[in-house]
Amino acid sequence: MSRAYNFSPGPAMLPEPVLRQAQATMLEFGSCGASILEISHRGPDFIAVAQQAEADLRTLLAIPDDYAVIFTAGGATTVQALLPLNFAVAGQACDYVVSGHWGKTALKQAAHCVDARIAASSEAGGFRDVPARAHWRLTPGAAYVHLTANETIHGVEWRDIPEAGTAPLIADFSSSIASEPLDVARFGAIYAGAQKNLGPVGISVLIVRRDLLEREGQPRAPIFDYAAQARAESMLNTPPSWNWYVLGLTVKWMLDEGGVAEFARRNARKAALLYAAIDGSGGYYRNEVAAGARSRMNVPFFLHDPALDKLFLDEAKQAGLVALKGHRVLGGMRASLYNAMPEAGVQALVDFMREFQQAHG
Ligand SMILES: *Cc1c(COP(=O)(O)O)cnc(C)c1O
Repeated sequence: MSRAYNFSPGPAMLPEPVLRQAQATMLEFGSCGASILEISHRGPDFIAVAQQAEADLRTLLAIPDDYAVIFTAGGATTVQALLPLNFAVAGQACDYVVSGHWGKTALKQAAHCVDARIAASSEAGGFRDVPARAHWRLTPGAAYVHLTANETIHGVEWRDIPEAGTAPLIADFSSSIASEPLDVARFGAIYAGAQKNLGPVGISVLIVRRDLLEREGQPRAPIFDYAAQARAESMLNTPPSWNWYVLGLTVKWMLDEGGVAEFARRNARKAALLYAAIDGSGGYYRNEVAAGARSRMNVPFFLHDPALDKLFLDEAKQAGLVALKGHRVLGGMRASLYNAMPEAGVQALVDFMREFQQAHG
């Protein structure tokens, strides 16, 4: 069996050393006499795994002590639904800056219980850019301002996240967390589903300034209370322990590889390589995102003739390049270049693109 270069947007490619470790501990974990899947989340073996994952994530992202790190089952969408319940009172204004599909999703998850407002949106332009700060219309007294750091489907990324004013800024970093250094202290909260850049699907991370956990929020079941989760060290109920474990392995791998500064360097090179191939193809391939907002993580691109899409995907697969099909919202292609994707994978993709153009130009 040989593993292909997997350009999936999520669940996404994981580093092979992580998969090998996970494989080895699937049958027996340490001296437990049981798989990591089979042991109590409250026993010392798993507690050590959970605490090490948090400690390593704090190191990787330089998370200040006045921020709690909460691990929860469910995806980023679940977090989006819980933000207004925890950090706003019923009917309170919450500002959403919308730069793509996931910003809209976040707004939808909040709209039933707060006054979720579109403070700015780039939808009229087809989400090919971020809405400039000068055009944001922030609401005085809003509970928070929400934005999406990287729009996974539209391939639009904030290269410089603006100041949001007085309300805390909450950012969805699902598809770009740990891809470059980040000043956590600028945010009230950041969150991410793990399956793009942090590990396996089924677990999300919320990094939240502790004073926000003192907000009353609005009526919610105890299990949806982030302050209670923080007090219980994310173990109000059985956490997704396997996912937490593999997330920890992935974070440790990132530290061993040199941390976020090293990944920033690699990711910049990878993205530059692919955009140069697209832009240099004389219109055979095209990416429509404004130059200053092009995502380093997800690169949507289109062939000049959509009739060639299927052939492109079939031949790419034969060349060991998989999951390049674009999201159904946009069509075309999309290459996701998360931390686990080596530069050799991107080189293989641009080589294939050039050969495909020569063969079917
Ligand atoms: C994938 C993704 C989501 C949704 O994640 P789920 O885990 O499927 O809920 C939300 N926001 C962004 C930016 C994403 O990339």
